[in-house]
Parts: sequence; structure tokens; C-alpha cells
Amino acid sequence: MSSATEPYWLDGEDRMAPSLQESTDADVVIVGAGVCGAAAALALAEAGIRTVWIEGRAVSQGASGRNAGFVLQGTAERYSRAVAIMGRERARAVHQVSRDNHRAMSSAIGELQIPCGYQRRGSLQLAGSVLEEAELLESAALLREDGFSAEVREGHQLDAVYRNAGFNVGVHIADDGELDPAAFVRGVAKAAVARGVRLFEGSPVRELTASSPGEAWVRTDGGEVHAQLVLLCTNAYVGELVPWFADKVDPVRGQMLATAPAPPLFSCPVYADHGFDYWRQDPAGRVVLGGWRNLDVEGEKGTAEVLHPGIQARMEEFLARFEGMRGVPVTHRWSGTMGFSRDGLPLVGPVPGLPGALAAVGFTGHGFGFAWQCGKALVELLLEGRSDVADRFPTRRLAM
Ligand SMILES: Cc1cc2nc3c(=O)[nH]c(=O)nc-3n(C[C@H](O)[C@H](O)[C@H](O)COP(=O)(O)OP(=O)(O)OC[C@H]3O[C@@H](n4cnc5c(N)ncnc54)[C@H](O)[C@@H]3O)c2cc1C
Repeated sequence: MSSATEPYWLDGEDRMAPSLQESTDADVVIVGAGVCGAAAALALAEAGIRTVWIEGRAVSQGASGRNAGFVLQGTAERYSRAVAIMGRERARAVHQVSRDNHRAMSSAIGELQIPCGYQRRGSLQLAGSVLEEAELLESAALLREDGFSAEVREGHQLDAVYRNAGFNVGVHIADDGELDPAAFVRGVAKAAVARGVRLFEGSPVRELTASSPGEAWVRTDGGEVHAQLVLLCTNAYVGELVPWFADKVDPVRGQMLATAPAPPLFSCPVYADHGFDYWRQDPAGRVVLGGWRNLDVEGEKGTAEVLHPGIQARMEEFLARFEGMRGVPVTHRWSGTMGFSRDGLPLVGPVPGLPGALAAVGFTGHGFGFAWQCGKALVELLLEGRSDVADRFPTRRLAM
């Protein structure tokens, strides 16, 4: 392992806010400034609630600025597997949450005019083996039966670029999207700050108390915040701060690379090998590629943002399967940490033993499919006392 580099998305980006250097109070304090915290911050600002927002590093320095920028529907499992694991009705409802999530993100991008290279070109799932082809076809049939779009592309319906690289079957999902994830989250953060949220970066929360309803307190090295409620939006890191989550959300590393601009090859985000491998070409022509975690599942656990030379080498080898990519240099390599929940679904709502806290974590590699709605759900719980999304993903289901 060698040390990691900055993600392509954050190359040259500066900090947005100072660190906390005082003791202050607020109605709500949010911990964590990724996509989830950003959704909560914006919703609180729009509701006129006095909010302090604390980030240990910088906005989007966690997984939200280190990912591939796919805005996909569904969980990390292919739909047929999701149906087998959670049952037809639940799988359909969870799938719908992610579609609502995409719609809400797309509205925010439009309303706030965030320049984040957002496109809605759909996505392509590819099968790398006969077994996977069957899974893909079954998933497509189930998706269509449940009212979602899924177009099978076989033989000459599949672009030559994929056939020449050894793929035979694909399924195009029409409504999926893609964006520069860091630009999106930073754009939302700017809007939240402009609406009155007090943001502090470089301020890791070392300790928190929320053992009475209506009373929360967080401590950083430079100061403290007293509030009525703390919102935990720290995904993979949540177990470090709140031990209850330590055996429910596991930190899992993902490797990424980006190339220099290449000729147009990939017309939408693509994922293969059961979703383990994924790539897309951004508006500048750079190919952003990640995955291959299944080569070293045990070695890719933990929060250290280190490069895995073996996985990085395999990713580069894979790119060379595409004629147009041969000789295109890799310019950026990085890794990031995902929070995998024990059942693959987010955990949203009250935290057992901490009545002054709510959490939205455990997005299991698909935070841009769920975290926007889940961050907003925390604010709905605060304002309305209930939320359909929180009801769908209750934290207590993993209480044992
Ligand atoms: C390599 C990779 C590729 C991925 N690709 C995709 C993709 O294409 N599409 C998709 O939907 N998802 C993808 N994901 C997953 C997605 O990035 C995450 O699910 C999502 O970003 C989670 O957002 P979040 O806001 O919950 O967490 P994060 O973005 O991780 O934000 C949590 C924040 O909390 C802060 N924090 C933690 N502890 C503390 C503390 N004690 N005090 C203060 N701050 C703290 C962290 O610094 C961090 O900034 C990928 C992830 C990785 C790593």
C-alpha cells in the first residue's frame, strides 16, 4: 500500500470555512459535511432553524468527494438479488426511494443552479459471465414488471465498444444520472451558508453528549457547540463517535482513478461484475473508474485512505481492454471510505441511548442514491415528528 492522493474532483479546491474556535450555541448541530449533511443543512436553513455544521476535514473530503459520481437507482445489489433478500414489495419501495432521491437532487441542482456537470444519460449494467447474464436479465424483467425502465441490449444492440472488450449482454436503465459529486456537495454547502448555516471545517468532533431529549453538546479541539439536537451525518465514521453503530456500519475502502481526457467512448455510466466495477466519462472526456474491491475484500476494510497497488494495477489493465483507452495516461489515483450497513440499507432516525441525536448513515456504496432523502428525513423528523423515509430505514431494526 502507498499513500493516497487527492481525488480528481477536489484537485485545486480550497477550504470553504474556518475551524471552530469558540463555544457557541444553536438549535441544531450537524456533524459531517458530505452529501447527507449537506441535504440536512440546506433543509434546516430553508426552515429558518439556527444551525451549526461541523466537519472534521473539509466539505466533501469524505466519500462524497471521492466517489464516481453515479446517481443510480436501487441498492448496491442487482434488483433480482434485492428482491430475493428483502422481498418484492420492500425491494420495489426501496428502489422508489432512490428514484425520488434522484428527482430531489436534480431539482436542487436546477433551483440552486449548481454547476456540477449533471447529466441524465441513463446507466448501463454489463454482465461479465454467463451466470451474471442470467442475473441481469432476471433483474431487468423484474424491474419492468414493477414499473421501472430496464432495456436489454444483446448482440448488436450493445455498443461495439463493449462487445470488443468481451461483454455480450447489457441492460440500460434510462433514468440514471451522473455528476461531479464534490461540486454538487460544495454547491449545496454554499447555498446553506448563504441561508445562514454556520459551517466550520477542520474541526473533528472528539466527544458528544445527547443523553437527554432537547440537549446535545459536541466538543472539538477549538470549541464546543450546545444545541437541542445533534444530527449525525458521518456515515463510515459513525462508530468512532457513537459506539452503538460500531457493529452496524463497517468502513470499507474503494479505489478510484481518473485518466487524462480521452476520445468519446462511454456514453453513460457503466457498471459490471455485479456492480463491483464501474466507470464513466465526464464532460471533459476523462474516464473515472473504480472498483475491483472483490480482489481483496479483507484488505479493503478500514478508514485509511490508502492506495491498493494490486487493485490499481488491475483497474489500469482493465482500461486497456478498450482500444480507445490504450496509451491514455492515468492522472489521478485515490481511495475513499464507504459505510456498509449490516443489511445493505441506510439507517435513519433516533439513536438508541442518545435521545438528543438523530443519524442517517450506512449508505453501502450508494449514497448518491439515498443520502439526499435520508439527510432531509432527519429534518422532517425534527419538524414534523415523522418521515416516510425514516420509517423505511429505521435504526432500531439492527438493535440487538
Ligand atoms: C470510491 C468510492 C466510489 C463510490 N461511488 C459512488 C457512486 O458512484 N455513486 C454513489 O451513489 N455512491 C458512491 N459511493 C458511496 C458514496 O460516496 C457515499 O455513500 C456517500 O458519499 C456518503 O455520503 P455521506 O455524506 O453520508 O458521508 P461522507 O461523504 O463520507 O461524509 C461524512 C463526513 O463526516 C465527516 N466526519 C466523520 N467523523 C467526524 C467527526 N468526528 N467530526 C467531524 N466530522 C466528521 C467526514 O470527514 C466526512 O466529510 C462511492 C464511495 C467510494 C468511496
